[in-house]
Amino acid sequence: AIPVPAPAPAPATPLCTHQTVYVPVNRLAKVQEARLRLPILAEEQQVMETINENPIVIVAGATGSGKTTQLPQFLYEAGYAQHKMIGVTEPRRVAAIAMSKRVAHEMNLSEREVSYLIRFEGNVSPATRIKFMTDGVLMKEIESDFLLNKYSVIILDEAHERSIYTDILVGLLSRIVPLRHKRGSPLKLIVMSATLRVSDFTENTRLFKQPPPLINVECRQYPVTIHFQKRTPEDYVAEAYRKALKIHNQLPEGGILIFVTGQQEVNLLVRKLRRCFPYRQQQEQQQQDEQQDEQLEDVAEENFDMKRVIRNIRKSKKKFLAQMELPKINLDDYKLPGDDTEADMHEQAEEDHSDDEEELDALSAGEELEGVSELSSGPKQPLWVLPLYSLLSSEKQNRIFQPVPEGCRLCVVSTNVAETSLTIPHIKYVVDSGRQKTRLYDKLTGVSAFVVTYTSKASAEQRAGRAGRISAGHCYRLYSSAVYEHQFMEFGLPDIQQKPVDDLMLQMRSMGIDRVVHFPFPTPPDQLQLQAAEQRLTVLGALKATPSDAKDLPPAMTPLGRVISRFPVAPRFGKMLALSHQQGLLPYTVCLVAALSVQEVLQETGVQRTEDVAPKANKFHEKRQRWAASGNFQLLGDPMVLLRAVGAAEYAGSRGQLPEFCATNGLRQKAISEVRKLRVQLTNEINLNVSGVQLSVDPQLKPPSDAQARFLRQILLAGMGDRVARKVPLSEITDKEERRRLKYAYNTPDMVDPAFLHASSVLKQKTPEWIIYQEAYELRNGDSEKMFLRGITAIEPEWLLLYVPLLCNMREVRDDPPPRYEPSSGKLFCFVEATFGKAGWPLPLSEI
Ligand code: ADP
Ligand code: MG
Repeated sequence: AIPVPAPAPAPATPLCTHQTVYVPVNRLAKVQEARLRLPILAEEQQVMETINENPIVIVAGATGSGKTTQLPQFLYEAGYAQHKMIGVTEPRRVAAIAMSKRVAHEMNLSEREVSYLIRFEGNVSPATRIKFMTDGVLMKEIESDFLLNKYSVIILDEAHERSIYTDILVGLLSRIVPLRHKRGSPLKLIVMSATLRVSDFTENTRLFKQPPPLINVECRQYPVTIHFQKRTPEDYVAEAYRKALKIHNQLPEGGILIFVTGQQEVNLLVRKLRRCFPYRQQQEQQQQDEQQDEQLEDVAEENFDMKRVIRNIRKSKKKFLAQMELPKINLDDYKLPGDDTEADMHEQAEEDHSDDEEELDALSAGEELEGVSELSSGPKQPLWVLPLYSLLSSEKQNRIFQPVPEGCRLCVVSTNVAETSLTIPHIKYVVDSGRQKTRLYDKLTGVSAFVVTYTSKASAEQRAGRAGRISAGHCYRLYSSAVYEHQFMEFGLPDIQQKPVDDLMLQMRSMGIDRVVHFPFPTPPDQLQLQAAEQRLTVLGALKATPSDAKDLPPAMTPLGRVISRFPVAPRFGKMLALSHQQGLLPYTVCLVAALSVQEVLQETGVQRTEDVAPKANKFHEKRQRWAASGNFQLLGDPMVLLRAVGAAEYAGSRGQLPEFCATNGLRQKAISEVRKLRVQLTNEINLNVSGVQLSVDPQLKPPSDAQARFLRQILLAGMGDRVARKVPLSEITDKEERRRLKYAYNTPDMVDPAFLHASSVLKQKTPEWIIYQEAYELRNGDSEKMFLRGITAIEPEWLLLYVPLLCNMREVRDDPPPRYEPSSGKLFCFVEATFGKAGWPLPLSEI
């Protein structure tokens, strides 16, 4: 027999292998010298071989080892930028800008060749070879060019931060890379991360069939001594200030890096420290800084801060007093009989003077630092204080890398930008507040707010590590070791698991990702929840209902869905906002969305929210009833009370009367401030995201007109279409006892047993036939349980067909009553029999 030759072994995936061409780079000698000291330089060969031979590579390494600045250069020199671009994504804008500038400088190339692109800003040109961008920008590019044909390599930097976009990009690129390979135009993917939880990427079969190779960049790190605080002070900004003074007064040279949570805190500390150890040049800078800060105010992402708002209100109040001119609207708009709280505004203005700064002034710097024996004596040198946060102009960000003036000590006050994204040179002392600003989402409403929380242990380690780059260092933690042990999480949660799924689903769909349920997330959100979200979005009209013959196609996105996705709130609120573009409704809807998102704005004295007690028990009830007194105000119901409460409270606040106003009207003052915060934030984000809209955040929102209140009822229905209820028809019940029991009972489409109007509702006495509710909850009392409905608005049944058509089932036109033509409106009125929800109620439709 003739032996059949064995098939030749397949060539080792030739398309993966990159043909190295050496592209020379002409660096300055000084730059080259500095590069050679970076740990990643020692591993250039291994790194590049791995990348050349594999389509996907994970690179992990300590912050400062040179990943971000050097890897793009390695790739450039190996010819990856010859025909296509090298793309690098960063979760933070600061990093995208700073790194592009640094790399351009190191490579001696212009900013046309090494460029950046962030939303609204960039210097990308046709000559761009290396492009730094935010992950959101690359996400947008995928929408128009799914295969990313412009790029030969994509580097996803800072993957450990687990930003939503980076997570989604990892998933998308895990599929794009093989596709590009098939097309014969391979794309390399490099996922870069600090040395944290790399296993989420490497050991993830959902993402990569074969685990991609992992390169660990070794990095020399000097020991850092950790000092915990005995107690954890509330006012960490003051404590940070005190600590910085002590370090500067008592410890040998070496830069100080202070971590606080936001732009406001950074600026406050910078101002104070500069004043304390002045340096002439820097005082001029301070003035400039302050002018520019004002301009940044409204576009800020993380700069939103109540203190600033209050300060602005105070400022405008002073102006107002100086001119003795009446404000545009006056309290009388909100004043109701018996509400008189006339206070002397002049007096109030005098008192308002105290500020955080004075509190800081009062702090002493006399005590000694614990745990440190090396004391420097000598004259107090000036401190070279620099701020760092994401919205700082790039020119100012760059100051952290410039030489410190002779005889000064460097002190950088930063948000967690300096944790891993930017490595600041010469740091020996780290002061860690242990806090960060986190975006927290309300599960119910999807409205997000920035909240100050403790960081994770992993973050605390990263921050401490910043002190050990040049020599042994010290980290002063402004919290106790007990707090660290018990209240710090091991790692921060990935953003994707903190965001409400409805929102995520809609956002991904608007990016063109159809099968969100099957999407390869690095850590997936709950699948069942994703499916339920898809259903809710369909009812809302954001996704098209699937015809029964196309069940396995995902429902398509509707134009309404696209609009909704642009609002930074849960889709049901997004829909409300989307429908509010007319009749001057947007400010009211913004206010409502904010108010509905905060718990317990209205106090219920004597009535637990979970109790059902006669309205008399709440002494504020009558007042509220008057706030929603008649006409559409009354029918708008409990949301009207909220609208009025918030409007009037903010107005009272602008006159310095907030505490009294809240006390006399049964409002929770803290909640009112939160609502205010959300209003400002929502308004800013809407102005930023929705073109053609420019809202202002006037603290003096006039009550709506009666007509507007009617529109607001419809708008609420549009968002809450799945929360409709209809009064149990009492006329059909003959038993007297039963009739009494069911006096406040409502049927809903989802629940078997009727639910009851809660005592807190201003519509409890009126018991309208059709309502929507904001919240349904169960109350157990011994063996019995009862459902209650809160946040009630009356609706007209004929609106249902218009706003929640999917929940209505149409039947035929009826002759009873006979069709009627109305000449004035040119409309034909007739009755159509329709049913709503699963309960199948007849629905008269009066307008076609
Ligand atoms: P990694 O990404 O591994 O955290 P980087 O590449 O960001 O590290 O930083 C490498 C080094 O380059 C750091 O020591 C950092 O201080 C330095 N560096 C980065 N940007 C600049 C700059 N604009 N001027 C001077 N040094 C810089
Ligand atoms: Mg980096």
